[in-house]
Amino acid sequence: MSAGTQRRSIRKGTLRIEALVVPPFSNNVYILYEDGADDAFLIDVAMGSRAILGRVKELRVKPSLIINTHGHTDHTAEDRILRDETRAKLAIHELDAYRLALEDEASIELGIVKEPIEPDIQLVSDQELKLGNKTILRVIHTPGHTEGSICLYCKEENQLFTGDTLFQNGYGRVDGLGSDSEAMKGSLKKLLEFPPSTDVYPGHGGFTTIHSEMWLKEINSDSSE
Ligand SMILES: [Zn+2]
Ligand SMILES: [Zn+2]
Repeated sequence: MSAGTQRRSIRKGTLRIEALVVPPFSNNVYILYEDGADDAFLIDVAMGSRAILGRVKELRVKPSLIINTHGHTDHTAEDRILRDETRAKLAIHELDAYRLALEDEASIELGIVKEPIEPDIQLVSDQELKLGNKTILRVIHTPGHTEGSICLYCKEENQLFTGDTLFQNGYGRVDGLGSDSEAMKGSLKKLLEFPPSTDVYPGHGGFTTIHSEMWLKEINSDSSE
């Protein structure tokens, strides 16, 4: 494990979620796998390649898919390293795919050299991604923070990975390239339709549930729709 990396192991039925917090932006990185299966999904690898590679080796799982919840560099910086090392496919929503070839402010400020990379899979809303023997992750398109931001929902275990769309007590910035505050409002309303008990795993900060984020209801009732 790299210095500065924190880790939590979560079990939901046969689904296993390894959550790592990696520097320098305190990104939450998730390794998903199933008991009794060897393939794994990596959600938002950030700058966590060393920690991720160490952990997948310990767990004896093989990443088959790297999923970016959106194209910001703090979430995607080490996509290429991880893809090269694991031969996993790289996936991002089709509307954020262009960002993998862009430098953004975060990378320029930090002097991160990010080589352009082409995703292997351009995701669309409601696409289903199969992990292990029975786990299905559904792509939920939640534009607002970026055009192609997604959440990933595991219906069977009621687990939701929200990237920079929904945080504990808040939501992602809507003042960047491709941000749209009205779209964000619509996306947050969409998340309110998930069962209240849904566990929420954001791209930064603590975990939460839909039920704990009562302010989402206010967004809903403010709307004229
Ligand atoms: Zn972001
Ligand atoms: Zn972020």
